Amino acid sequence: MNIQVLGAHNCESQNSKFISLLIDDALAIDAGGLTSSLSFPAQQKLKAILLTHHHYDHIRDVPAIAMNLFLRSTAINIYSTQSVYDAITNHLLNGKLYPDFLKRPQDNPTIKFTIVRPHQTEQIEGYSILAVPVNHTDLTVGYQVTSPEGKTIFYTSDTGPDLTECWKYISPQLLIIEVTASNKYEEFARESGHLTPSLLKQELTSFREIKGYLPRVIAVHMDPSLEKEIETEISAVAQTLNNPITLAYEGMQLEL
Ligand SMILES: [Zn+2]
Ligand SMILES: [Zn+2]
Repeated sequence: MNIQVLGAHNCESQNSKFISLLIDDALAIDAGGLTSSLSFPAQQKLKAILLTHHHYDHIRDVPAIAMNLFLRSTAINIYSTQSVYDAITNHLLNGKLYPDFLKRPQDNPTIKFTIVRPHQTEQIEGYSILAVPVNHTDLTVGYQVTSPEGKTIFYTSDTGPDLTECWKYISPQLLIIEVTASNKYEEFARESGHLTPSLLKQELTSFREIKGYLPRVIAVHMDPSLEKEIETEISAVAQTLNNPITLAYEGMQLEL
């Protein structure tokens, strides 16, 4: 399994992109920095997009990819919970802000949308996909993705503390988890459903207690203005837990 980090951050600038991951060139998870990271031919190779929740930094490129694929007579499958579907169809692809690509072109619409339900394994493009609720906004889900060869990753999406329940459902070899803010912003992180390095440490400790191991950990969704602090604090956590934790960056490639 090849995992490419297209966007690794929660804010966009010339040097940082909204969150988006790409698996084996075929499966994208979240669409923050999707079109801005991929050539048109690479966009046409996409088979499916999994969306975790409706926040703008996670769905921003859905209209853009839909237009690109529409113009190239290609279709794509999008999977999400009902609330993400409602947000996209009511506010983005509503025929006003942008065309309704769920209905256009009439004979073969560009977007084929499927609603996923938590804790139900779906077969998507040869991968086993399990959506697991995390603690963020409405119903936000993380996705466990298992390849045909049995390689497994879990991406938490945005989440606040207390993932004890979530950990029970997953057994990844690679954990991609959000760490948005540095330790001094713990109160903000708790209120807005995000993690800091010290909150990450608690979550990883509970993972190890429940699962009996720790996978390799990749941190994503960092606030670029806090990234230096986050990096320093995370390396201390990695040392204490004696487990590799790496900050993701745009263009990072991971092999499993
Ligand atoms: Zn969010
Ligand atoms: Zn976010």
